[in-house]
Amino acid sequence: MADKRDFYDVLGIKKGASESEIKKAYRQMAKKYHPDNNPGDKSAEEKMKEVNEAYEVLSDANKRSNYDQFGHAAFEQGGAGGGGFYGGGMDFDMGDIFNMFGFGSGSTSRRNGPQRGSDIGVTIQISFEEAIFGTTKEISINVTDKCDTCNGTGAKAGTHAETCKRCNGTGQERVVQQSIFGSMTSVRTCSACGGTGKTIKDPCPTCKGKGRVKKAKKFEVNIPKGIDHGQTIRLSGKGEAGINGGSYGDLMVTVYVQPDRYFVRKGMDIYCDVPITFVQAALGDEITIKTIDGEQKYTIKPGTQPETVATIRGVGVPNLRNTAQRGNQIITLKVKIPTDLTIRQKDILKEFYNPNASDVEKKGFWDKVKEKLED
Ligand SMILES: [Zn+2]
Ligand SMILES: [Zn+2]
Repeated sequence: MADKRDFYDVLGIKKGASESEIKKAYRQMAKKYHPDNNPGDKSAEEKMKEVNEAYEVLSDANKRSNYDQFGHAAFEQGGAGGGGFYGGGMDFDMGDIFNMFGFGSGSTSRRNGPQRGSDIGVTIQISFEEAIFGTTKEISINVTDKCDTCNGTGAKAGTHAETCKRCNGTGQERVVQQSIFGSMTSVRTCSACGGTGKTIKDPCPTCKGKGRVKKAKKFEVNIPKGIDHGQTIRLSGKGEAGINGGSYGDLMVTVYVQPDRYFVRKGMDIYCDVPITFVQAALGDEITIKTIDGEQKYTIKPGTQPETVATIRGVGVPNLRNTAQRGNQIITLKVKIPTDLTIRQKDILKEFYNPNASDVEKKGFWDKVKEKLED
């Protein structure tokens, strides 16, 4: 293929030309070189071809962007014969382009040679307590694993995969191509073996030559103390089997912690509300509080105000990295106002509220309440 002219030059426009500028330039050129206007003129015919080619690429946003990055080489296939892409309506994705030129190593190694298996993500549900104290869970998943019948080779028993003759087992073939950059050697996936480097004459009947099959598998997952909602545990090598002897992927277990009815967790601290009566708030009392470790005594001071917040140290969530270290429990005392007072209780409260009562009487009031409640 002779050196191609720059498409922008062909249409007589600048590189950053707008769509309408490209269209306009094309119309002008098409008119100028149209066979009807140039009967029998071979060079005009050639020019017209060139204009069409240029327009076809530059009028298509994808093709244009490929051309801007790689020039004509973006549309040349193989080497020998090559071309043929213009007007063929074939689209390259970027992976193909990278592969074709042998750069973008990620893309190349993804297709050829050993490939690591994919990671698998699963979610498991655990209780609030399990997240704090840790647990062991069994999970069952369907996972792509090595085929046992052929031990992953993909070849029928008694036969074996042979080294691909085309690529000598490399999974890649090199092609030399001419482009505006000069002669370029590019590497692409071997067309004979699809990049595996092997040819299987008699495929394994279980996996049909793939070397991998879906299997139901069970795994034990150790949930560490202190794990929080949304955190993920990685089980190395428990994901999908690799291809061509590639290593296994990982199993990523994301934890969903069920909310508790009583406790709310924030980081390493556990929050809860503790209901107390207005009498307990006024007179003080010793009560039993629920903690994640069990029940614990707590002393309400006389004259405790509603919404008083108190900290119970060391009964919070263990630190995931150092489980000896624990957060706290933060309690909020919720003073309950009774709604079912007896007439007698109402009378006592009215007496208490009497603005004319003397200080002496006020002081004795709660003693009266206590007496009545203990009746
Ligand atoms: Zn098999
Ligand atoms: Zn091959």
